[in-house]
Amino acid sequence: MSSRTILLALVAVAALVPVIPGVPVFWITLLNNIGLASLVAMGLVLLTGVGGLTSFGQAAFCGFGAYTTALLTTAYGFSPWVTLPVALLITGVVALILGLVTMRLSGHYLPLGTIAWGISLYFLFGELEILGKHDGLIAVPPLNIAGYDLYDSRAIYYVIWTFVLLAGIATHNLLDSRVGRAIRALRGGSVAAESFGVKTFRVKLIVFIYSALLAAISGWLFAHMQRAVNQTPFGINAGIEYLFMAVLGGAGHVGGAILGSGLVTILKDQLQRLLPQLFGSKGNYEMIVFGFLLVVLLQTAREGLWPWLASLFPARQQPPRPVAAEPLPRRTMPDAAEPLLSLKSARKSFGGLLAVNDVSFDVRSREIVGLIGPNGAGKSTIFNLVTGVLWPTGGEVRFKGERIDSQHAQAVARRGIARTFQHVNVLSNMSVLDNVALGAHLRGSKGSLASLARLDRAEERRLLNEAATQIERIGLAEQMHRPAGSLSLGQLRIVEIARALCLDPVLLLLDEPAAGLRHMEKRELAAMLAKLKSEGMTILLVEHDMSFVMGLTDHLVVVDFGTKIAEGKPADVRANPAVIEAYLGGVA
Ligand code: ADP
Ligand code: MG
Repeated sequence: MSSRTILLALVAVAALVPVIPGVPVFWITLLNNIGLASLVAMGLVLLTGVGGLTSFGQAAFCGFGAYTTALLTTAYGFSPWVTLPVALLITGVVALILGLVTMRLSGHYLPLGTIAWGISLYFLFGELEILGKHDGLIAVPPLNIAGYDLYDSRAIYYVIWTFVLLAGIATHNLLDSRVGRAIRALRGGSVAAESFGVKTFRVKLIVFIYSALLAAISGWLFAHMQRAVNQTPFGINAGIEYLFMAVLGGAGHVGGAILGSGLVTILKDQLQRLLPQLFGSKGNYEMIVFGFLLVVLLQTAREGLWPWLASLFPARQQPPRPVAAEPLPRRTMPDAAEPLLSLKSARKSFGGLLAVNDVSFDVRSREIVGLIGPNGAGKSTIFNLVTGVLWPTGGEVRFKGERIDSQHAQAVARRGIARTFQHVNVLSNMSVLDNVALGAHLRGSKGSLASLARLDRAEERRLLNEAATQIERIGLAEQMHRPAGSLSLGQLRIVEIARALCLDPVLLLLDEPAAGLRHMEKRELAAMLAKLKSEGMTILLVEHDMSFVMGLTDHLVVVDFGTKIAEGKPADVRANPAVIEAYLGGVA
C-alpha cells in the first residue's frame, strides 16, 4: 500500500464517522478537539520537530485567531469567514514581531523566550476591557455555509477536518521542497546551511510565522465551535500540551501531529475523569502526568511514535532516481593561472589567542593548493575567514580581486566558493540525495508560497537531478536514498564534496577530505580531485597526510601556530628544514 492509498482510506473513514448511526456526540466532540489540536501540533512539527526551534507559546497564537473573530463578529457584526483572513493577518504580524525578537535566541534561551511572551499574551487576553477581561466574549456566531448555520458538532467536524487535511497537504508540500530542505538544515546549525546560501534567520521566521498561522486557524475554528472565548485555553499549560502532542506523535512527521494530538486528547480526557477520583479533589492533575511523560519521552524516545508506526507498514520499494531534467546553467570557469583567491596579512584572534597571524598567500585558478600544518595551526580558521563564517581581525581576503572578508557566508557562497567541513556536517536523518541537494540551494529561487502550492516542481526536479548527477559523479549512486546517518565517515566526507559541487563552485575548499578514508579510497579521492581540476576547478585543501598532498597539489602553504612558515612546490616544501622541524616534529 502506498502512503497515498493509506491517506485516502483514512480520509474515507474520517468522512463516514459522523454519519454512522449511534456514534455518540461525545466522540464527535473529542474528534473535533483532536482536529483543532492537530493544526497547532502540525505547526510545531515544522518548527520544533523539523527546524529544532522549541516554542511553548503556540497557544497564544490560537488566542489571536479566536479573539480576533470573536471580537469582530460579536461587536462589529462581521461574518466569520471574513474574519479568517483578518485573524491570519493579525497573527502573522504578531508572529513576525515576536519572531524578530525570539528567533535570534539560541539554545535554552529560545524556549525561555517563548514561555515569556506566551505568559504575557495570556495575561494580556485576560486584562483587556475590549476582550471582556476574564469573562471573555460570548455569543460568538457559528460558522455558516451556504445559508446553514453550523451549530451541530457533526457539521463543524467536517469543516475542522477539511482544514486539517489542507494543512497536512500544505505542510507536506512545504517540507518536500527547496525551502523544506533549508528548514531541515536548521537542525545542523546555521554554519553549514549558510555556507550553501540559506538565509537561516529568514527561514526560521518563515516556519515560525507558518506555525503561528496554523495555530490561528485552530483558534478561529475553536471560537466558532465553542461560541465563546476566554483566556483559559490560551495559556502556557496548553502550550506545553501542544508541544507534548508534537513530540509524542513524532516531531518530524505531519502524521505524527495528528497521532500525538489524538493520543494526548484522549489521554487527557481519561485522566481528567480518573485522577480527581484518585486524589479525591479537583485539579489539573493531568498536567503533572503530562510533564512527567514528556521528560520520559525526551529521554527514551525522542523520535516519537510515528516512525515506529510507519515501520509496521512494509517499506515501499526504493524510490527511483530523480528524473533527468534540463541541466541547471553553469558558471564559466576562469582561465588557468588567474589570481583567484588572495589572502593579505589575514589575522584572527580569539581573545588572547592569535589563531591566524598575518597569513598571506594566493590561489590561482585551476590549481590544487594544499594548506598543511600541525593540529591547531589555524587551517580551519583560515577556511572560516575565506568563507565568511568568521570575520578577520585584520588584513584582507580577496576573491577575483574583490574584498570578501566581512561578507556573510551566504554572499561568499553566491560568488562560487563552496566548502566541506572538518567535522562532517550532514543531517543524518535526511537522505544522501536531500543532503546533497541542499548544496544547490542558490541555484533555485522558488520560495515557500510556491512550494505550498506545488508551483516549484519543475525547478525541484532540476535541483534533485543536479544532486543525483553529483552523487553519481563521486560514486555513491547506490547510497542516494539512504539516510546519511547510515554511511561511514569516509563516505560522508565524499557526500560533502558532492554537496559542495552542487553549488557549481569556482573554488572548492576541502577541510581534511581524506581523514578517515582507507588507502584505496584515498587514491580514488585523489583521482577525483585531479579530474575536477582538469575540468577547470580550483581547489584549496587542508590535509595531514603528506603522501596524499605530494602527488596531488601544485602548491603547498605550511602554517604553524597561526603563522605561515613556508610555501612553494611540494617537493621544495618537503625539503624545507623549518617545515621538517615544525610539521614533522623534527622526526625526519
Ligand atoms: P587546525 O584546523 O589547523 O587544526 P584551527 O583553525 O581549528 O586549527 O584552530 C586554530 C586555533 O584556534 C586552535 O588553538 C583552536 O583551539 C582555536 N580556535 C579555533 N576556533 C576557535 C573559536 N571559535 N573560538 C576560540 N578558539 C578557536
Ligand atoms: Mg582543522
